[in-house]
Amino acid sequence: MLELRNLKAHYGHSQVLYDISIDVKDREFVTIIGANGAGKSTLMKVIMGLVPVSSGSLTFKGKDISRAEPWDRAGMKIAYVPEGRRVFGELTVAENLRIGGWAEPPSDLPRRVEKVVSIFPRLGERMNQSARTMSGGEQQMLAIGRALMLEPELLLVDEISMGLMPILVNRCFEVLKQLNKMGTTILLVEQNARKALGAADRGYVLETGHIVLEGAAAELQSDDAVKRAYLGG
Ligand code: ATP
Repeated sequence: MLELRNLKAHYGHSQVLYDISIDVKDREFVTIIGANGAGKSTLMKVIMGLVPVSSGSLTFKGKDISRAEPWDRAGMKIAYVPEGRRVFGELTVAENLRIGGWAEPPSDLPRRVEKVVSIFPRLGERMNQSARTMSGGEQQMLAIGRALMLEPELLLVDEISMGLMPILVNRCFEVLKQLNKMGTTILLVEQNARKALGAADRGYVLETGHIVLEGAAAELQSDDAVKRAYLGG
């Protein structure tokens, strides 16, 4: 579904991603783990079109999207849950959800909202509350829910576990697994390697802008170097 080949990206003169080659197959759950500053968020932004590709190829369902505008990528059913949630704080939960479905037929929005609420009942109880007054966990649910309004084929998720209590981290991972089972392809970048590899089918390890290891999630979990660097020994 998604194919990156020898992809490079820069901020100004500073190169952040080096020769990244990654595949995500239809209905797969793939994770990219890496430490602070490895380039995970940049990679998500490149796939979404928020940071330009310097060279290399980026294709989605066989089509070159490397020069496509972000909104065109959204139109192709690629949705993005950014790091730090980035919900619109002054807007209500309902308004945030509607923004996620901005390009969809307005008459279809109530059905989509209902579907999101069936996944996150808490959002249904808070429809008229402004997003900034929600807890971190609720805001993360809203950020995921907003992305789901697109009924994405590919869901890009940046650091779902950041700043959340363990019980909410577990809940978020359960939701991702459930969405994947229902047919959504997922690419998750995550510092919480244990959780990410526990949920995904396959994984890649990103270190200072280079993919240094890839394999089945279970293989990576038992890899000595991964254990030492990312799983606490
Ligand atoms: P974290 O988990 O801390 O968010 P990350 O793996 O997501 O880390 P990135 O945010 O992609 O890493 O950052 C990769 C590198 O690019 C870092 O050295 C960072 O300082 C740099 N960088 C990120 N955004 C910019 C920017 N807008 N301009 C210049 N450099 C940037």
